[in-house]
Amino acid sequence: MGGEATYAGARSFMRRRYSRDLTGIDVAVSGVPLDLATTNRPGARFGPAGVRAASANLAWPGGNWPFCFDPFENLAVVDYGDCVFDPGKPETITDSIEAHARTLLEGGVSMLTLGGDHYITYPILKAHHEVHGPLSLIHFDAHSDTWAEDEKRVDHGTMFYHAAKEGLVDPARSVQVGLRTHNPETHGFNILDALWVHEKGVAATVAEILRVVGDRKAYLTFDIDCLDPSFAPGTGTPVCGGLSTAQALGIIRGLQEVNLVGMDVVEVAPVYDHSEITALAAATLALQYLSLLAAKKR
Ligand code: MN
Ligand code: MN
Repeated sequence: MGGEATYAGARSFMRRRYSRDLTGIDVAVSGVPLDLATTNRPGARFGPAGVRAASANLAWPGGNWPFCFDPFENLAVVDYGDCVFDPGKPETITDSIEAHARTLLEGGVSMLTLGGDHYITYPILKAHHEVHGPLSLIHFDAHSDTWAEDEKRVDHGTMFYHAAKEGLVDPARSVQVGLRTHNPETHGFNILDALWVHEKGVAATVAEILRVVGDRKAYLTFDIDCLDPSFAPGTGTPVCGGLSTAQALGIIRGLQEVNLVGMDVVEVAPVYDHSEITALAAATLALQYLSLLAAKKR
């Protein structure tokens, strides 16, 4: 065995090179350490660092199971570092995140983003919409995050209401997976709630996502609270009865045919975690996403 121990060295995501040079790069991993939009427990600002540290456990030749290949042989990935914004000027944060995303997308790379609370997906979607047009959203969460409001606020529970209203995403061609909180308004999103997934299973869930999304460009957003608190205690708004890590990984693996243009994993709050299981789940989900992209280039 060569290389640094899992607990040592510079903990970039999957030990990728830290770089802001996007020449020849396919995917830039970056963090958005924001948790000012949380409504319950804060702490997701430590998510990017936590997920990066946990990813070191996967950064060895046998770590990418059940994909038995090194995704980085086919996919050029750098760790771009984190989005910089001024927490003392909260009114500027949305624009700062959008500018960060635009820099990456204009640099010709696709984004894998580590949150941060779920609000960060909204400015990221705005930048993606400029490049790709209206997207299918594949949204894993315990919550709908589509609560209607008259005035636009910085809140991690309302941003997909605005994203749908502004046409950033097409709710009729989008799926929300794992929901287990009640919101009487669907705003046109297709919902496979947690009971549906538990009852029908992984294969049926994948089939339904493929049916709804088809060959459209899709953005994958994974709120870690989609997982049951037993698998992901380290988050701000845990809800019982969620997916297992194995179910979630199985569903992501099934999205091989989907035209995925970007992904984020959000709401990891390491201070509430135990034994880094939440951060490890997030890192593994992100790695599976990269493996899907790499498999297409093999
Ligand atoms: Mn949630
Ligand atoms: Mn969410």
